Amino acid sequence: MTTVGILGGGQLARMLALSGAPLGLRFLVMDTAADACAGQFAPMVVGDYRDEAALGEFASRIDVATFDFENVPAESARWLTARVPVFPSPRALATAQDRLAEKTLFRELDIPVPEFAAVTSRADLDAAIGAIGTPCILKTRRLGYDGKGQFRIKVPADAAAAWDALGAQAQTVGLILEAFVPFQRELSVVSVRGRDGEFRAWPLTENWHVDGVLSASLAPASVDAALAATAIDHARKLADALDYVGVFALELFCRDGVLLANELAPRVHNSGHWTIEGSETSQFQNHLRAVLGLPLGEPRMLGHACMLNWIGAMPDATAVLREPAGHWHDYGKAPRAGRKVGHATLRCDDPLSLADALARVGSALGREAQVAPVIERLRAR
Ligand code: ATP
Ligand code: MG
Ligand code: MG
Repeated sequence: MTTVGILGGGQLARMLALSGAPLGLRFLVMDTAADACAGQFAPMVVGDYRDEAALGEFASRIDVATFDFENVPAESARWLTARVPVFPSPRALATAQDRLAEKTLFRELDIPVPEFAAVTSRADLDAAIGAIGTPCILKTRRLGYDGKGQFRIKVPADAAAAWDALGAQAQTVGLILEAFVPFQRELSVVSVRGRDGEFRAWPLTENWHVDGVLSASLAPASVDAALAATAIDHARKLADALDYVGVFALELFCRDGVLLANELAPRVHNSGHWTIEGSETSQFQNHLRAVLGLPLGEPRMLGHACMLNWIGAMPDATAVLREPAGHWHDYGKAPRAGRKVGHATLRCDDPLSLADALARVGSALGREAQVAPVIERLRAR
């Protein structure tokens, strides 16, 4: 019996455990919070990731370790590698944890990125704003997620407010200034690389964010084949350069037909949740296959799929369950403002049926604004 250890016990770990059950896998989750939602399906070790006693107990009970959370300290991941195989590697994790390191790697691999500069002082910030121009975004290099740790600078005079908000973190997690990209679309490539280097990518996904948090994802994205091929090529180059094992997502901005890389998430990704019902092999299943050295499954899609995130509190499930291809995911989390508590996926054979299904669900749940941009895209195909 193989036990997979997962560092981080949120909904990603929960969905990994659910998808690994048919493979006969056991799971052990480690999290700092005793009520982490993956704990409803897998035994847990509760403790700080830097606590060697807790980490040692975790390591002694598993055959392989992986992550549901990219902000596990890279030193803890390195400590684990002396005891069990860890995928993706701590080196890949460390690169993806640091916006400066990842953007530098993108550039080295000829993957276009928005202009950026490291910021270590208030004077640096002014110089960087001078070089990059406005609008731009000041971000923490590490530990940000769901748009947290970011400040949008519209005009140079906003520098003082940006420094008030984030300056204290310049010496701890570090800061980076990025050009603001007036993109027409946000896209992601969710892909997987096996222990033997085999690489597979799901069709490109288009994503809509509200206040920096993912709101909806649509696959396949309606982009031309050459653009999709370029995006997947960027992902493959990154995976090979990092000798990456497992699933990851590459987030991209598309501006005037040009792709600019935003960030790499070294784990299964929210923009790939539609793969559970929308593809031959889900991102969760393929991540497990990759870290275990098993053959990878086909990422081929089945029709058109849209995922809607539920943030803060779960809506009523009925309207989605009534749809012929409506799928409901409740993560079993307590409601809290801004928290991802669940999602729904609607899948249809053709784009117009999917648009109609989204319109029905949107109006039943009072979520017209959430579904509107997706419907518009589907009807414009
Ligand atoms: P995630 O939850 O995806 O890990 P994060 O906190 O790491 O989010 P980003 O992905 O960098 O943050 O930013 C969140 C969102 O903010 C992006 O998906 C995008 O909508 C917007 N955004 C971030 N950087 C830029 C930029 N340089 N130009 C335009 N929009 C941006
Ligand atoms: Mg991120
Ligand atoms: Mg992001």
